[in-house]
Order: sequence, then C-alpha cells, then structure tokens
Amino acid sequence: RAYNFNAGPAALPLAVLERAQAEFVDFKETGMSIMEMSHRGKVYEEVHNEAASRLLKLLGNPEGYKVLFLQGGATTQFAMLPMNFLGEGKKAGYVKTGSWANKALKEAKLIGETFVAASSEEDKYMSIPDLSKLELPENTAYLHITSNETIEGTQFQAYPDTGSVPLIADMSSDILCRPFDLTQFGVVYAGAQKNLGPSGVTVVIAREELLQNSPKHLPTYFRYDTHTENNSLYNTPPSFSIYMVNEVLKWIEEQGSLKGIEQKNLEKANLLYQTIDSSGGFYRGCANTADRSIMNVTFRLASEELEKQFVKQSELEGFIGLKGHRSVGGLRASIYNAVPYDSVKALVDFMNEFQKANG
Ligand code: PLP
Repeated sequence: RAYNFNAGPAALPLAVLERAQAEFVDFKETGMSIMEMSHRGKVYEEVHNEAASRLLKLLGNPEGYKVLFLQGGATTQFAMLPMNFLGEGKKAGYVKTGSWANKALKEAKLIGETFVAASSEEDKYMSIPDLSKLELPENTAYLHITSNETIEGTQFQAYPDTGSVPLIADMSSDILCRPFDLTQFGVVYAGAQKNLGPSGVTVVIAREELLQNSPKHLPTYFRYDTHTENNSLYNTPPSFSIYMVNEVLKWIEEQGSLKGIEQKNLEKANLLYQTIDSSGGFYRGCANTADRSIMNVTFRLASEELEKQFVKQSELEGFIGLKGHRSVGGLRASIYNAVPYDSVKALVDFMNEFQKANG
C-alpha cells in the first residue's frame, strides 16, 4: 500500500477495504453486490439504518438528533444551510478561518444577509480567532464555523458558546477524529471522503427541530424536511458509499471508538510536528502552534525550489499527496483517521534523510 497523505479523497482503512472486497460480489449470500440492490429492499435498508444509528452511537446518542445522508458534497450544504435557515430579517454569522469558510460564506451571500462574526484573515488564516467573548446580534439565524481548515492546516480546539443561536460546523476534514459534544451544535456536516468513507455521500447530523418545516418555496431536494420525512430515501441514495461509511464506523468502534481514535491521531500528529519543530528551522510549520490541525499538517521549506525537490523525491520513494494546495503552496501531509502510524513514521524518516542531504 502507498504511503497516502492525500487531502481527499483520502486513505481508507485497509481492513475496511478488504472486508468490502470480500462481500463485493455477493453481499450476505444474496447473489448480488450491495450496489446492485434496490434501495427500498430490506437488505439495503438495514445497512442504511445501521450506518445512521452507529454514527449517533459514536457521538453518545444525544437526544433529539438525526442523521441524514445526502448528495452534492459539503459544497451543496454551503447553499442548503442558508436556503433552509436564513429567512427574512435574519442574518447568518460566519467565522472566516480560511479557504473553506470563505466558500461557505460566499454561498450564503447568494441567499441572504450575512455578517463576519470573527476572522483570522489578517493572520493569513494561520490561526483560529478567539471566540470566547463572541456576542451575536439578536437576529442571528446561525453561526457557521469550519472546524478544520483542510488547506491552511488549522483546527478549532474548543467550540464557541452561541447560546440559543444554532452553531453549525463544517466538519468535513476532522469529523470523528476525536470525541466532541454534539449537543453544542445545531448542525454538523461533512463530505464523507476524508474520515468517513468514499466520496458520494454527505453526512448531516442535526437537531431534529431544525430539520422540520423547511421554507415552502424551496425545491424538494434542497429542503431538509424532505430527507427527514423520508429517512434519506426520498430519491436513490448513494448506497455503496453509505455501506462503506457503515464499515468505516465499525472500524472506528474497533479502534476504541473516538477516544481510541483520538489517541492514535495525537501520536501521529505529535510525531510529525515534533519532527518539524526539532529541525532547527529547516522545516517550518505554517499554522499558529496552538491552532494546529491534527488532520492536515502544513509546513514549508526555505525556498519553493527546495519544496519542489521535496515533493519530487518523496514521490519517487512512494509518498503520495505531500504537495500543498495550489492556493497556498508549501507542503501538506493529511493524516486522517485511516493513515497508519507506520506511514507517518516512514514520512518523518524520509524528512530526516532529506534534511541531512539538503540542510
Ligand atoms: N469543507 C471542507 C473543510 C473541505 O475540506 C472540503 C473538501 O475538501 C469541502 C468542504 C468540500 O467538500 P465536497 O467536495 O464534499 O463538496
């Protein structure tokens, strides 16, 4: 297996791929692949419901929350959220933390009134703004945050208290990387293709009351209430992706659930950041230390020339996906849940060798 540090779609657990392979052609002696079955049949529906209940269970089964499986990626949620929640006379607050937060905000502006509740733009998005004294206007429809900025490599370490205003988080790149208190949130959403499974399905976890009574003028698919009332089976769901999500969730349980996953993620992230910090300035971490992401580790070398050389040589040695996003440059190692410790160990060995040869 390649040392896969792709930002997304990203590495999946080997055990999950192997299990899926074993039942790929004949799922539970039905003579069919799961992807050949009717989404209205008993066999598929069991998988579908199991995935939703397993996800809620991992999050402690708080009362009044529901899981939806939708399509169109997290990008479609950027629009669906304001379409459903940003009514007349209301304003939606956005915390500008980087590339993805900005995309979410841009979309909301097309729908209604927005305001920037806090921003780290002045800091080139290399930090997370302090939200401990946040005050929101009374007509705030919701506050939107991006819990992990995949491109810049920053991550919230604590979430703001928004009182009665629903807190909404795009958790696409860090969902289930550690335990979190779902009851702090009105809505959490994520494209599956980093920590949850393959691309094709978007998970929305929300307080049930927010998923009811969508504005009547909205087209059917874009209304949350459509999907709530139909158990995410209003139209054909991405059934194979949802099946894979269920398998990934089983795997997370086997890792000691979210506590176990967190510990493994911290070991990986610490190893990598320590290598960067102890390199005497050869490698420089991009994000403010306190706001560093344990999922996307961004770093730089002394020159773009040297960075290019790093990427080229790493590829020759079997490392995938270490080039930073085209919008910010530099280097990035995405170390999502499924990236094994051994891959990170191999990477830091490579980094040490590279420094010896070029330092
Ligand atoms: N939000 C974040 C934080 C992301 O990292 C991404 C994709 O990388 C997206 C949103 C967009 O997700 P999708 O491609 O599922 O629309």
